[in-house]
Amino acid sequence: MARRLLLVAACALVDADGRVLIAQRPEGKQLAGLWEFPGGKVETGETPEECLIRELREEIGVETQAACLAPLTFASHSYDDFHLLMPLYVCRRFTGIAAPREGQALKWVKPARLRDYPMPPADAPLIPFLIDLL
Ligand code: C5P
Repeated sequence: MARRLLLVAACALVDADGRVLIAQRPEGKQLAGLWEFPGGKVETGETPEECLIRELREEIGVETQAACLAPLTFASHSYDDFHLLMPLYVCRRFTGIAAPREGQALKWVKPARLRDYPMPPADAPLIPFLIDLL
């Protein structure tokens, strides 16, 4: 069956100690309780970079720019009702202190410990790319 394609952009924010920020999907959302790289759906008329700048500001109060978003890899995963295409960017240059704006828990985690946090099936295969990079 043909599934619709959903474009979601995700970002690994990296701090000065090489830790990566993950956010826990809040109750009431699909995949609640699982940990993900911050981001969200790319809206019509938006580039993935513009989407991430908006989502990082809205979700965790962090400011960045397109030039500070480096694409690393992407997830391509079929859920029951849609196929998710999710570029993962890495961002080391941002301002502001990450704080939950939408009730979600946040954690800074060393890449080697990311596997301790249950993730959506699309996100988990991205971890080795971050371990290699960082
Ligand atoms: O975050 P949002 O609910 O808008 O994302 C839409 C869908 O994309 C989610 O229901 C989930 O299935 C998928 N998703 C994912 N990994 C993410 C973000 C979203 O698998 N990091």
